[in-house]
Amino acid sequence: MHLFDLHGRVAIVTGGNGGIGLAIARGLGLAGASVLIVGRNRLKNESAVGELAAAGCDAAACAADVADPRGAPALAAAAEKRWGRIDILVNNAGTNIRKRPEDLELDEWRRVIDTNLTSAFLCAQAVYPDLRRAGGGKIINIGSLLATFGAPFASAYGASKGGLVQLTKSLAAAWAADHIQVNAVLPGWIDTELSRQARAQVPGLSEHALARTPAGRWGTPDDLTGVAVFLASAASDFITGAAIPVDGGYSALL
Ligand code: NDP
Repeated sequence: MHLFDLHGRVAIVTGGNGGIGLAIARGLGLAGASVLIVGRNRLKNESAVGELAAAGCDAAACAADVADPRGAPALAAAAEKRWGRIDILVNNAGTNIRKRPEDLELDEWRRVIDTNLTSAFLCAQAVYPDLRRAGGGKIINIGSLLATFGAPFASAYGASKGGLVQLTKSLAAAWAADHIQVNAVLPGWIDTELSRQARAQVPGLSEHALARTPAGRWGTPDDLTGVAVFLASAASDFITGAAIPVDGGYSALL
């Protein structure tokens, strides 16, 4: 359908070599976009590009650490070099260090904030000139339920995701006149490597997530595909600064 068509668009998906990011990259690619996936692990990058190509997507990878301030300019340069433009940025790379706040070291706090929040700011800054040049664009920030709720093991993670929602609103306000829409997506409990680690480290988490989610199941990375294509396409041109839960009803339940 024309409203959701992304042919001729170029998208960057950080953390696109696995989990939610790979599902989003596949969705954008199948809607017609050329996709640059970004991750630190070159083997995972290669395997994901192979998977995307096999699905019929035009994809390439850039090995970069988004927590390093040199990462954002490098990924923007890689997309420009290959396709000559950038239209869509998905800030999806994320990490957590699950410790109680009294035990979290300063360098661990910084690693989580740098990876989840500062990276999104730097990547948005890095692609802004390209989006303007293209006459507009889309930025999608992947937040979390922990942007809204607290958890004893997630002080830095929760702060980073809450900050990401506020960053979303500020960027949306700043760049609306440039026809750049900036929105956040707040996934619920999604079955990935990250949440498998969480389930291994936090006793009872698996049962809690199932019991507390009205849909009665864990989400899958593919549950995030539709909202990403929507927010990357012309279908969402008058939506900016929003934070959309994709959580099987978790945040709707008292
Ligand atoms: P995964 O652990 O499966 O994937 C994380 C991705 O981020 C990998 O591709 C990883 O690649 C990349 N990444 C991590 N750190 C960096 C870095 N410093 N530089 C570049 N890439 C990096 O996690 P999910 O798919 O579950 O998570 C994706 C996003 O969704 C995260 O922001 C997470 O917070 C969020 N989220 C996930 C939920 C869930 O239940 N799974 C719930 C709510 C939010 P590599 O290791 O190669 O660098």
